[in-house]
Amino acid sequence: MTSSGSPFASLGPDLYVEDPDVVAAHAGDASGSGGAPSGLLRPRTTADVAAALALAHEHRVPVVPRGAGSGLSGGAQAPAGSVVLSTARMDRVLDLDPVERLAVVQPGVVTADLRAAARAAGLFYPPDPGSVAFSTIGGNVATNAGGMCCLKYGVTGDFVLGLEVVLADGTVARPGRRTAKGVAGYDLTRLLVGSEGTLGVITEITVRLLPAPAPARTVVAAFASLEAAGAAVHALLAAPLSMLEVMDRTTLRAVDSLTGMGLGDPAAMLLLQADDADAAATVAAAGRTCTEHGATDVAVAEDDAESDALLEARRQALPALERLGSWLLDDVCVPRSRIVELIRRIEEIAAREGITIGVFGHAGDGNMHPTLVHDGSPDGLAACHRAFEAITAAALDLGGTITGEHGVGRLKRDWLRRELDPGTQAMSRAVKGALDPRGILNPGCVLGVEG
Ligand SMILES: Cc1cc2nc3c(=O)[nH]c(=O)nc-3n(C[C@H](O)[C@H](O)[C@H](O)COP(=O)(O)OP(=O)(O)OC[C@H]3O[C@@H](n4cnc5c(N)ncnc54)[C@H](O)[C@@H]3O)c2cc1C
Repeated sequence: MTSSGSPFASLGPDLYVEDPDVVAAHAGDASGSGGAPSGLLRPRTTADVAAALALAHEHRVPVVPRGAGSGLSGGAQAPAGSVVLSTARMDRVLDLDPVERLAVVQPGVVTADLRAAARAAGLFYPPDPGSVAFSTIGGNVATNAGGMCCLKYGVTGDFVLGLEVVLADGTVARPGRRTAKGVAGYDLTRLLVGSEGTLGVITEITVRLLPAPAPARTVVAAFASLEAAGAAVHALLAAPLSMLEVMDRTTLRAVDSLTGMGLGDPAAMLLLQADDADAAATVAAAGRTCTEHGATDVAVAEDDAESDALLEARRQALPALERLGSWLLDDVCVPRSRIVELIRRIEEIAAREGITIGVFGHAGDGNMHPTLVHDGSPDGLAACHRAFEAITAAALDLGGTITGEHGVGRLKRDWLRRELDPGTQAMSRAVKGALDPRGILNPGCVLGVEG
């Protein structure tokens, strides 16, 4: 159903719909529902996106780009009066070149599908956010998503060679390259990575691929104290690991109750993985390091199935904590030497506010996901908000950042002003003003309304 009153009606009913149920289903993200957008754009091609943005620009209609809506910072929460632009139908792998070791994909390709396509060609696309099974590459690039193997491989942006992007007025630009190296001009590819839909709509992505690694080997180590786990993390940073994850007791209890895995009741658990040529020896040595630093139990996965089961326990951390009540997820990153301090401060905040906070995350990167659970009452919600503020402040105080991988979105735009110095804020506003002079691209996201 389309309204003849909308400028987008001229695109036809295949590309633009106003069915309230369909539109409402695309209004929010995993962190909450959005407002009441007036329509949904469903482009199939770059030309469709360009035509839609030209109309949006002419009529000054805000546009909220959307991948799978799995974001956790409110980036795809569409405000009233905006239209949502979904990339769901732009879901093709356009090229996979084993010689150049790259793939060219449309933004709506699900991350796991790109990884599978690369694997089928004997290659490897490393980025693996916890949402790998449903998030899109476009969303991953727009948030510069991380994941569990960042310790060794880095984040999504480290694999982006070039982009095709439709700018606010419908102009199509292709920053970047297909070559292994290249330094021509400003690095606008990097500027667009992590721009959360505020500088352009990404319509094509060229990613770098790696040769497939050796089969991964996995170890879990349980600790009776957080301090012991923290000391082990320090010692393990020198090891050639591809993954170093942590879950605290609250998270472990929640995962155990969801999966019945029998994880015991340690204060913390580390999950380690190596995928180098000598992975078995690497994880065996890492296991010994854990024991030397007080691990009460160290278990090496015997085979791929056991390894996958251990990884699944970590992937279930958020779903498990979500079952405990209403929740709010934070995402902060501190220097790795300050992780234990951060977790201790979070425990104090939880006790002060009388709420449950489970902490899990990427210990190898210092990137933690405190998950705040409350009873759904107004008081519980208020306590969670106070705790969320206190945790984010603690991260800055410890020399960290307000977001390690989920992005600023709408949840943390006020915090961005506290993290960025005035010069960097001015640069950010200048970039936004130059690329989106009418402020139609995801307004209110990242920089806030006046951005
Ligand atoms: C269970 C779970 C686990 C998760 N684990 C991780 C994790 O380990 N690491 C991590 O980093 N994140 C994680 N996330 C968060 C989320 O999955 C990522 O932020 C992901 O990159 C979002 O992708 P998406 O396709 O769902 O994007 P969306 O949520 O639809 O959008 C995210 C942002 O990108 C913009 N955007 C989307 N597509 C485009 C495009 N084509 N052009 C321009 N802008 C665009 C949107 O406007 C929005 O600002 C997790 C989420 C869940 C629910």
